[in-house]
Amino acid sequence: MAAILCEIQPGDEVIVPSFTFVSSANAFVLRGAKVVFADSKSGHPNMDETLIEELVTPKTKAIVAVHYAGMPCEMDVIMEIAERHGLFVIEDAAQAIDSYYKGKPLGSIGHLGCMSFHETKNIQCGEGGMLAINDSRFMGRAEIIWEKGTNRAAFFRGEIDKYSWADIGSSFLPSELNAAYLWAQLENLDKIQERRKAIWQDYFQLFTRTGKQPGILQPSYLDRFTEVMDQLELWASCHVPASQDSPNAHAFYLVFDSLEARTGFIHGMQERGILCIFHYQSLHDSVYYNSISSDQRSLPNSELYSDCLVRLPLFYELGNWYHVASI
Ligand SMILES: *Cc1c(COP(=O)(O)O)cnc(C)c1O
Repeated sequence: MAAILCEIQPGDEVIVPSFTFVSSANAFVLRGAKVVFADSKSGHPNMDETLIEELVTPKTKAIVAVHYAGMPCEMDVIMEIAERHGLFVIEDAAQAIDSYYKGKPLGSIGHLGCMSFHETKNIQCGEGGMLAINDSRFMGRAEIIWEKGTNRAAFFRGEIDKYSWADIGSSFLPSELNAAYLWAQLENLDKIQERRKAIWQDYFQLFTRTGKQPGILQPSYLDRFTEVMDQLELWASCHVPASQDSPNAHAFYLVFDSLEARTGFIHGMQERGILCIFHYQSLHDSVYYNSISSDQRSLPNSELYSDCLVRLPLFYELGNWYHVASI
């Protein structure tokens, strides 16, 4: 919907970080755009805002700001670049519910903001999402696109006497059942967030070795991480995010020094019944992008996170998990 609303056309260019999920790029590629990938920062998985301006060309239409793990991109800088070049900013706030930039909720700063309620997010309904429209000029058209390309909403308000096909559109809305499932979690957002933040803190204390007692997670569960870190001597090659890098406890991640260290950690945890996953494979280095683009630039920071970052389990019920499956 965001790509349609920005009237992305074949030949337009859209700047997107490479270290993100495919959806951040697909929305624009589906409208015919060429995506131009930006690298992550050195020392942080978010897009490096200082690299954006050199990617702007006369064909650039939009910048996609992905708030990885709910950590805010430098929105003031990004909005200023966009304003100077007449570009749209779309926030991919899929992971960013309950996270803020200078007091403003993420997703409310760019022209458009996309949230996800996929099962991997803080609150979820299996599949679902939300588009925040922060610029009123998009309102009328958004309603029609959302109503599958019809002016049915105006009909229901009694503004017209029959509705018809008015624009392109699709079935972008979640079902009532999904919405009801999500609603209960929205009502309990504070409680869910409090628990997620406590779990995040337990991991943080474990990996920064503060020696503090965990508040939520079972010591027998946390011991399995310590065992693997000790056994493979990984402590020195493991970077823990700073405490402020968890605005909304979307993810607890570690960054190892090498692919080998990360692989060792994942296997060690797997042997102890704990699934730790990595992501994302950099989009600029993907099978599909290589098939449509001759852009051979390497993006070293994005590649580093693709090889070295791992996420630990983080979900509401994790604290109740007394018994780890026997192996
Ligand atoms: C989950 C996620 C998406 C996709 O969300 P959907 O609800 O599956 O469309 C897009 N971008 C990022 C950064 C995500 O984490």
